[in-house]
Amino acid sequence: MPERPGPERSVADWDGLAREWDLWQGLPQRPTLWWRDDDAVDVTASLEELRRSARVPVALAVIPMALDRPLQPRLGAYLADWPGAAVLQHGVGHLNHAAEGAKKSEFPPTRPSSEIELALTVAGNFLRETLGSCVLPVLTPPWNRIGEPALALLPRLGFRGVSRFDELPYAGKASPATQFPRFREINTQIDVIDWRGSRGFVGEAAALGRLAAHLAARRRGSVDPKIPTGLLTHHLVHDTATWRFLDKLQDWLAQRGGLDVFQDPRELWPPL
Ligand SMILES: [Zn+2]
Repeated sequence: MPERPGPERSVADWDGLAREWDLWQGLPQRPTLWWRDDDAVDVTASLEELRRSARVPVALAVIPMALDRPLQPRLGAYLADWPGAAVLQHGVGHLNHAAEGAKKSEFPPTRPSSEIELALTVAGNFLRETLGSCVLPVLTPPWNRIGEPALALLPRLGFRGVSRFDELPYAGKASPATQFPRFREINTQIDVIDWRGSRGFVGEAAALGRLAAHLAARRRGSVDPKIPTGLLTHHLVHDTATWRFLDKLQDWLAQRGGLDVFQDPRELWPPL
């Protein structure tokens, strides 16, 4: 019997990243990045640590209506004073509506569209009322999952984009989101947390491996080279090693030509 392939893995060290980085020299595109951090609802010590750590713009995926962790109005004042922060709508309540045994999703294809439409609208209005103009009309579905019927609703509900997570190997899958005009899907690829194992830092080899692999896929044209590579963090669960890696990555990029490779989320989803 043929052996079943394991999950795709890609590893690299800083030298490996440097080799990939050098291959971008002289190309018309730059090796751009962007940073998404999930699950904020309040100003916590770890959110303050994120603000200290991030020398570049960050898109915070904020949960509008989590039952156990209500959105705190003081987060609005805090973000108004953090010029690099923008907010994406992280679902409605971060609640699982998937059928028993199915992968967790707040917007599975089995959930009635009318219910999803109402929930997204109410939650989006509440998010904007509470946090103000830093909220971008972009949905980050919890667990990075959204069924196609719900995805198709988004442009009509005023969303300009969606952000999910790409698993290895990175190859151009035609996303249904690309068929909506002026609607952009910009995903993340480098999750710094080892959710299936230690729930701590995933390790440099895995994080740099995904970064180098996604950059290589863009450079070769197997995915759109203009769409930036996404760093995904969850400030509430970072251990010391995770914070250290984020520092080291920014140091490395600063030395390699500048931190302006990080794109501002407001420019990724500009106003109409
Ligand atoms: Zn989440």
